[in-house]
This record gives sequence, C-alpha cells and structure tokens, in this order.
Amino acid sequence: MADQIEPTGTETATWEYARAPESTDIVRLDDRYGLFINGEFAEPKSGRWFTTINPATEEPLAEVAEAGTEDVAVAVEAARAATDAWQGLPGSERAKYVFRIARQLQERAREFAVLETMNGGKPIKESRDVDLPLAAAHFFYYAGWADKLAYAFPGRPTPRPVGVAGQIIPWNFPMLMAAWKLAPALAAGNTVVLKPAETTPLTALLLAQVIQEAELPPGVVNIVTGAGETGGALVDAPVDKIAFTGSTEVGKAIRRATAGTGKRLTLELGGKAANIVFEDAPLDQAVEGVINGIFFNQGHVCCAGSRLLVQEPVFDALLTKLKDRLQTLRVGDPLDKNTDVGAINSRAQLEKIEELVASGIDEGAEIYQPACDLPERGFWFRPTLFTGVSQSHRIAQEEIFGPVLSIITFRTPEEAVEKANNTPYGLSAGVWTEKGSRILWMAQRLRAGVVWANTFNRFDPTSPFGGYKESGFGREGGLHGLEPYLTFDGSTS
Ligand code: NDP
Repeated sequence: MADQIEPTGTETATWEYARAPESTDIVRLDDRYGLFINGEFAEPKSGRWFTTINPATEEPLAEVAEAGTEDVAVAVEAARAATDAWQGLPGSERAKYVFRIARQLQERAREFAVLETMNGGKPIKESRDVDLPLAAAHFFYYAGWADKLAYAFPGRPTPRPVGVAGQIIPWNFPMLMAAWKLAPALAAGNTVVLKPAETTPLTALLLAQVIQEAELPPGVVNIVTGAGETGGALVDAPVDKIAFTGSTEVGKAIRRATAGTGKRLTLELGGKAANIVFEDAPLDQAVEGVINGIFFNQGHVCCAGSRLLVQEPVFDALLTKLKDRLQTLRVGDPLDKNTDVGAINSRAQLEKIEELVASGIDEGAEIYQPACDLPERGFWFRPTLFTGVSQSHRIAQEEIFGPVLSIITFRTPEEAVEKANNTPYGLSAGVWTEKGSRILWMAQRLRAGVVWANTFNRFDPTSPFGGYKESGFGREGGLHGLEPYLTFDGSTS
C-alpha cells in the first residue's frame, strides 16, 4: 500500500467493537468467466483474459475474459438478432422476465451483496442494505411499466423500442448501475450489450447466470467484460443507443465519437456536490447527513456531497461535531458488518485521491484525519476533512471520488447559491435548514439535477436522477429513465 499522510487527529475511537465478519461461503467463484453472448458463456475471440482482485486484500478472485472488437461485434449481432422476437412479445410477457430477474435478485441478495463487497471493497452493510435492495427495486419498478407503455406518455404517439442499447457502467455501484441500465431498456423492449467496469465485473457475471435461469431469450442481454478499449469498441459498434455512466472525460470522448452517427446518447457523469448547512439547521442530523454524503461508499459516489458549505455562525460548532464523528468511523475489512468505510476500489483510484489530497495541502488548505489503523494490505484512505479551502483550490473544483471533504464557509443564502453553483458540474446538492421556504428558495436556484433537503444520498426507482453541465444529460429512474429507450416517431413498423 502507498504511504499514507500522518493523521492529524490524536484521539482514538472510544468504542471498541468485536469483529462481525460476513461469511464468504455463500459465494461460489469459477476460476474463469467467459463473455455472456447469446445466452451462453463463450471464450473470447481476442484470446485475452485479465485477473480481477479483491481491493481489500489484493488477492485474485478470478480470471475474466477481455472482449476485443470482434467479440463486441458478435455480442451486438446477437442483440440485433434478438430484437424482433423480444419486441414482438406482449409487454405483459416481457414483464414476466423482468419480474423474474427482480425476484431472483431478492432471493440471492446475500450472495450478490457478499460478492459485490469482495470485488469492489464497499462495506457489506452498504451492499446488503442499499445496493442490492435498490437494484431489485429497479427491476420491479420497470417490470411494472412493460405492459403500460402505450399509456405512460399521454398525448404522444405510442412509443416503440429504440433497438439495441450499448450500456457502459462504472465500478462504484456495479449491480445498481447494471439495474439502472438493464431494467428500463428491457421493459421498453430493447435488447442490450452491457460493459461492466474492469475492476468490478463479477456481480454482472453472476447476474448473467440469473438471466440464464430466468430463461430470457438468448441475445436479449449480452455482457462483454474488459477495460476502456472494450467500452470504446461498443461505442463504435452498430448500436442504436449508448447509455454511459462514468467520468466526464470519457463521457466527452463518447459524445465526440457518437456525434453525427444518429446514435442516441445519455451521459451520467461526475459531480462536485455542495452540501449546504444553514445556521438554523438541526446540527446533529446535519452531521450525519454530511458524513453519509461524503463517506458512503468511500466517497466513490458521483453525487457525493464533497463540498460542505457552512454558514459562518455554526462553522466552529459543526466542525467540532464532525471531527468527533470522524473519530468513530470504523475503517477496514469491508466484510465486517461494523465497517463504515471500506477499501478504495483500485490502486489507480487510491493514487488519484492521494495526488489530489497532496494538492490540497500544497495549496494551503488544512487537513484533518482521525488516527485510525489501516490494514496492511489492500487500498485504503483515511476519512479526511479540509478546512481553509478556497474556491479555486483543486480540492474544491475537481472530483476526488474518495473519502475527502472540502469545507467552505458562507454568510448569506445568495453567497451559498453562488458558491454551490461555482463548479463545472451540476449533479446534486443538499440543503440543511429548518425553514421550508428557504429549501424551496434554494432548490429553485441550485443548478443541480437532484436537491436533497435535510437528507442526502436517497435514491428511489420512481425518481429521476441526472445532471446539468459537465454532469451529463438524460435522466435515469422513473418515467424519465424509460423515455431514452423509446422512440415516439409515430410509425407503426
Ligand atoms: P471511466 O469513465 O474511465 O469508466 C467508466 C466506464 O467506462 C468503465 O466501464 C470503463 O471501463 C469505461 N471506459 C473507459 N474508457 C472508455 C472509452 N474510451 N470508451 C468507452 N468506455 C470507456 O472512469 P474510471 O473508472 O476510470 O474513473 C476515473 C474517474 O472517473 C474517477 O476518479 C471518478 O472521478 C470518475 N468516475 C465517475 C463516476 C460517476 O458515476 N460519475 C463513476 C466512475 C468514475 P474500465 O473501467 O473497464 O476501464
């Protein structure tokens, strides 16, 4: 593991917990996983494989196929060949398959949650209580729309599916992102080729097994594993739509690659959300919301509340409470049910966090980290606060995608809005105040796709999610998330 910065906090946690590790017996890993194409696992024509590891231990978990351009082409052909039969099914029949996936996810939730934690490093209590229940909820929700598409968009022509969707997802919520992408696409009658992230392919491959068991017609869902090159090949392949979640940089490259091709595109990209605490906010609740906002999933969250804007009169009180709360966060083994902050997803991501944190120190901000012990092996970063942050600092402008909070003060609501909106991103924001009128006043002015009030990081399949500016375009969740997978051109063919 790379050298860590010496913690500035001196207190150690006052609460000791006995370890409560989740057993991994429920997970049966194969040595090797092929590509899931046309309903079967196949050897990659590329002949290439890569090793996927557990980021908390650096131990290898399995070999996974790396799809080359030819493999992606075969997967897209399989998806294309399956479109007529899938689109020809009555919506109520398609719904049965999607419901079946949802029920299987619920039945096998523990197995999926343990595997998600093993491959991604997130705390088991999060994969168990957030990722898996929400993933199943998205399949249930969209299954319900499959036979109601003709009534879902009143006043518009009866919609038809777009065709073949290429879907590229990141490593921070592998199963949940797969559900966000697959569920609306399938319910709307599309076939798909899904590309999971290189570091977290295993739950998508377990999902492929569930899809086999649910007896989805072959070719309706295809899963091609690999890295950025595989994603690039999918973008260039003859698909009708690309749905991408990931970094703004790659999102821009995909935008350039699809321009003029007629391919539909939705992009869910990065964020630098402001979590704004007014002086009248209930401070203890706000502290929990701020902690959840930035340390949930180690801060590997596109909508993370990574900038804390505090009204000056409560800055000292809030900072003291936050530092106290940081001392109690349990960092370590993600499979331990007590763990609050798990492993950083990859060495590359750890290095990125370290580089940005070093820039914060160099630019003059003041760092605070609790004195917690970190495991010897694996990728770890202590929960971190920065005070004395100016808006021009890189840690106030760039997405760190790690457990690092930049704290900035403000005096008036107008100043809070100006500072919150002073970012190239516009994905989410949080407002903490006891005044309903102030919440509405702020929500009207914040340039963010989602504004949470007196809470943070709440998700629901019925509610649209997406951004402004460099956070991308298009919405996922709710009816808004169904629309990009449908065409309303009025033709009947
Ligand atoms: P990427 O944007 O590179 O990865 C997202 C997905 O796109 C992955 O499946 C990736 O494959 C794939 N991909 C990579 N390059 C291309 C390409 N040229 N064409 C098509 N697909 C591609 O994010 P990273 O995982 O590299 O993370 C980098 C930074 O991005 C993070 O530090 C964070 O700031 C941000 N990020 C934001 C996310 C969000 O939800 N907004 C999610 C993840 C990251 P593979 O991973 O296999 O290379």
